[in-house]
Amino acid sequence: MTNKKVGLSDTMKAKTTPKTYRRNPIIGTKYTIAISSAKGGVGKSTFASNLALALGKLDLKVGILDADIYGPSLPKLFSINEKPESDGQNIKPINKYGIQCMSIGFLTDEQTPMIWRGPMVTSAIKTFTQKVSWENLDFIIVDMPPGTGDTQLTFSQEIKLDGVIIISTPQEIALLDVKRGIRMFEKLKVNILGLVDNMSYFIGDDGKKYPIFGEGAVEKTANEFSKKFLGQIPIDINVGKCGDKGKPIVEEDIDSDISKIYLNLAEKLKQEFIN
Ligand code: ADP
Repeated sequence: MTNKKVGLSDTMKAKTTPKTYRRNPIIGTKYTIAISSAKGGVGKSTFASNLALALGKLDLKVGILDADIYGPSLPKLFSINEKPESDGQNIKPINKYGIQCMSIGFLTDEQTPMIWRGPMVTSAIKTFTQKVSWENLDFIIVDMPPGTGDTQLTFSQEIKLDGVIIISTPQEIALLDVKRGIRMFEKLKVNILGLVDNMSYFIGDDGKKYPIFGEGAVEKTANEFSKKFLGQIPIDINVGKCGDKGKPIVEEDIDSDISKIYLNLAEKLKQEFIN
């Protein structure tokens, strides 16, 4: 008997080869948009929260689900310290800045490390998508954990995702993983709405653009995979400050240049899905 050499891709195939998934919509919502990144620290949660707020400014009903089970950011980004209420059947999302919010971080204390195994992640996601009383949402923005792990798989296989936006910085090291992410979503037949280049440049006091992490690589990757390039978001000190303060920049300063970028993207999403 000859032994067949197997690669990691063979073992992954068992997990990701498309079959006929029975994908359920998130109850109480029209459109589910996931925000994903291959690497941590590229600004995915910041993007998810500002995009949700920008959609809210367009008079849409919006929710945000922080699906980053291992490292939830929503409690900090939206400065939410209270625990959600439950009627014994369903958990009520917490309303903040006009957005319906849910995060595993609302249920645990900030210092507790999250040690979850695959099946526990799956059941947490089921709870958040089927047992939260989201109310008449036009859009729910799902902040995915970084990478290509259990949460992405569970979401893509079991939940009806209307699209995913992939966030990256323009560094080669981040883009390697982005390519992996694109391939994963393609295999799972999830519609990739496009790629966003975050922290693309910094404008100095001299008014000049400094492409600190390099230039053009995210757009190049989008073209390589025939995906839309949704634009650049510069490095702005106020973005970080607002995040730390628990009031994202779109809420804090709607007239800022960064907020205008988010409003523009939100408008495009509205046109694509609602009218
Ligand atoms: P991720 O969700 O990918 O781990 P975060 O959204 O937590 O990343 O962002 C990581 C850090 O980068 C945070 O301190 C955030 O405030 C900061 N950040 C994100 N985007 C920008 C930006 N465009 N300009 C400046 N700082 C940013």
